[in-house]
Amino acid sequence: MTGVRLDAVFSPRSIAVVGASRRPGKIGYEILRNLIVNEYQGILYPVNPNARSIHGIRAYPTVRDIPDPIDLAVITVPADLAIAAAEECGRKGVRALVVITAGFREVGGAGIEREERLLRICREYNMTMIGPNCMGVINTHPEVRMDATFAPTPPLSGGISLVTQSGALGIAILEHAKSLGIGFAKFCSLGNKAQVSLNDLLEIWRTDSDTKIVLAYIENFGNPGNFVRIARAATKEKPVIAVKSGRSEAGSRAAMSHTGSLGGSDLAAEAVFAQTGVLRAASIEELFDLAMAFSLQPLPRGNRVAVVSDAGGPAVMCVDELVAQGLRLAEFSSATESFMRTWAPPEASLRNPVDLTPQASLEDYRRALDAVLADEGVDAAIAIYVPPVRIDEVEVARAVWTTAKAHGKPVLGNFLGRSEESPGFMELVDHGVPSYLFPESAARSLAAMYRYAQYRMRDEGEVRTFRVDKAAAEAILKRARDGGRILLREGEASALLQAYGIRTAKARIVPRIEDLAPAAAQIGYPVVLKAVGPELVHKTELQAVRVDLRSERELTDAATQMERHLRERRIAIEGFVLQEFVQGGLEVVLGMSRDKVYGPFLVFGLGGVYVEYLKDVAFGLPPLTDRDAMRMIESIRTYPMLRGVRGQPPRDMAALQDAILRLAALVADFDVIQEMDLNPVLALEEGRGYRAVDARILLAPPPNPKQMGDTGTRAA
Ligand code: ADP
Ligand code: MG
Repeated sequence: MTGVRLDAVFSPRSIAVVGASRRPGKIGYEILRNLIVNEYQGILYPVNPNARSIHGIRAYPTVRDIPDPIDLAVITVPADLAIAAAEECGRKGVRALVVITAGFREVGGAGIEREERLLRICREYNMTMIGPNCMGVINTHPEVRMDATFAPTPPLSGGISLVTQSGALGIAILEHAKSLGIGFAKFCSLGNKAQVSLNDLLEIWRTDSDTKIVLAYIENFGNPGNFVRIARAATKEKPVIAVKSGRSEAGSRAAMSHTGSLGGSDLAAEAVFAQTGVLRAASIEELFDLAMAFSLQPLPRGNRVAVVSDAGGPAVMCVDELVAQGLRLAEFSSATESFMRTWAPPEASLRNPVDLTPQASLEDYRRALDAVLADEGVDAAIAIYVPPVRIDEVEVARAVWTTAKAHGKPVLGNFLGRSEESPGFMELVDHGVPSYLFPESAARSLAAMYRYAQYRMRDEGEVRTFRVDKAAAEAILKRARDGGRILLREGEASALLQAYGIRTAKARIVPRIEDLAPAAAQIGYPVVLKAVGPELVHKTELQAVRVDLRSERELTDAATQMERHLRERRIAIEGFVLQEFVQGGLEVVLGMSRDKVYGPFLVFGLGGVYVEYLKDVAFGLPPLTDRDAMRMIESIRTYPMLRGVRGQPPRDMAALQDAILRLAALVADFDVIQEMDLNPVLALEEGRGYRAVDARILLAPPPNPKQMGDTGTRAA
């Protein structure tokens, strides 16, 4: 649901707690208590038919008995009563609901029906709803100060807003964040997200001035197409850092039984993150690492990093990780180096990474960090310190943060062998320098900051439109469907591609050997001969492809042999396809597949017969812009081959980009296309385009009439 309003959820002037309780331990007790002790700035109305007052505040038997207007109702009563309560809220004119109550879609059966009813009530009375089955919402803004959760302690206030699909995990994150000095603006536990979705929150927090960074714990995207569009706009404004569960097959199944929807395949998830600029943290631990870095430090201007350390080992580990993450080791100016030489211990190594050795004094360490940060060739620094006994680590921490503040370049700290409770660690994070227990975590966090800085600057491009022959494509697909076929025939596949302007090799379908020669004369030698038949899907294995046939003689010999061979193996052939022999092309693969959860996604990669083994492919999820398509091409490992290596010419990248976009347009227009595999597409020299020479196009099986009506899917 996009276009929702969340002001009544996050900035209510009055809140009714339905199911407020006098008994500690009950959710209705904890929520009311949290609202009170955390100094909610609006007016509270406990609702409980059996109490005159709760926590000393006058209680009402029902929402409708409250004499004043109510912006938000937090519902905590059991599921069957929750429906009636929601209805009352609707009649009362309540603007928003946060439904904590469980027992809806997540339990299946009657729960699904109950959730539908809840939704209908919200729709009827125009109420915004968070949940059901959620842990509540928080807004730390001084004019609101609302903690409508049952979390044990309130978060620190700060610039992070957290949206989570797992309430328990969300609350644990708030707890741990506190010990790292990370503060929050807003918190939203989505629960079953019957109405308000992750996409809604992203869209609204994009322009929320209190939210500087968005953190998200994601189990599934709801409507991935919307997510791509909304997240892409959000990351242009502020960093969005997400943990997505369901990486493994087993993990996906657990997530499915957890929230009542499928996690989707992780490859598609990766494509979504790459395309939208959302930073994916590999673990909850890394989520904290990144949250700390982004909330405390400015973004780096470039990727040149200085490492200052009092020990060689950790510095080298740090450098290895920096380089693996795509950052560079800064080169200091000779002035910086000779300046350090005037005072550093003689055994110190002063080229990056700087190793001052344990001989260094506190002042040496401070001056070194100051000198490298002052160097024009340095964009960021990582300060590593292995605390020796003779220097107070708090002194060092103070030297690090004061120096960092003076330069305005990002500085990340690592006091090795210490804990998050150690005084040096706390001194750093309390004064705005993110601190890590290990050098690699610091390196990874800095890399994420750099990557984000790049995202922000990058051109997202635009979605192109093409003049295509949609009617022709439709006719081809209809004919195949009417014929009960799900695999398109050779001629159909190329005609379909041509209707959308995708270039295929010149070809003729020839039923009989006698007719091959005249057809070849029309195409022009050399030609390629392939046998056609329902079982001939992987032709090479069946020796049903012969390339570079240069004369009529070679052609008829090849055809006769091929026919004999296939007959011996009892493989039916319907005829032949004769193609121009496309010379000098580099084999790439272009394809599309429909994911149960993500819908169609496109694939580009190194092609040919080894594609399954090399798996050098990139994914893209529509809506796909021209830049997305180019990024797919550029992101494969063997991209240098397309650019031209060892005397090979550069390939026609613009034409390949065009082909990807046209393919995206084709699959967007026809849901019935289930899978496409254009392998290979022969990429020619710059200016000469490409030719698809083999296309396998699969349609969705016709709907089984018995299963119709059982849709079971929904979009957020
Ligand atoms: P299959 O994938 O079913 O085995 P293909 O039609 O992809 O059959 O052909 C196998 C290989 O033959 C291709 O990967 C490519 O190297 C080569 N080939 C096929 N058609 C042509 C053509 N028209 N021009 C040049 N090479 C071709
Ligand atoms: Mg092939």
